[in-house]
Amino acid sequence: MFFIGIFGTDAKVVPVGQISGIPCAACGHLANFSVCRQYSYVHAFFIPLVKYGASYLATCPNCASVYELNPELGKQMLRGEPVHPAPADLHLLKNNCVPRCASCGAPRQPGDQFCSRCGAKL
Ligand SMILES: [Zn+2]
Ligand SMILES: [Zn+2]
Repeated sequence: MFFIGIFGTDAKVVPVGQISGIPCAACGHLANFSVCRQYSYVHAFFIPLVKYGASYLATCPNCASVYELNPELGKQMLRGEPVHPAPADLHLLKNNCVPRCASCGAPRQPGDQFCSRCGAKL
């Protein structure tokens, strides 16, 4: 095969917009999630040939947790239509929420035995 080494795969992330009105499942904030469309594609001679695996990722601006958005809503956003997402439309992929002290809510560092603010045992 002469073409081995010419074909390759790559991934691309394109911002789509924002959704609001749903609380973040990780941090509980009613956040304006930034939505990006991510897809992989096969290219040859650096020309994209086949797109596959498109997904819509929503990021919480408060805790940076990453969600996968219902692709139907993502397509609506791409078309510029208003979307009204429900919590079920967001599927948590990666929880980046910082662990917090149960008694005072202060962020805690990994490995901390006691809260640095209130001294509660963690
Ligand atoms: Zn969050
Ligand atoms: Zn505390």
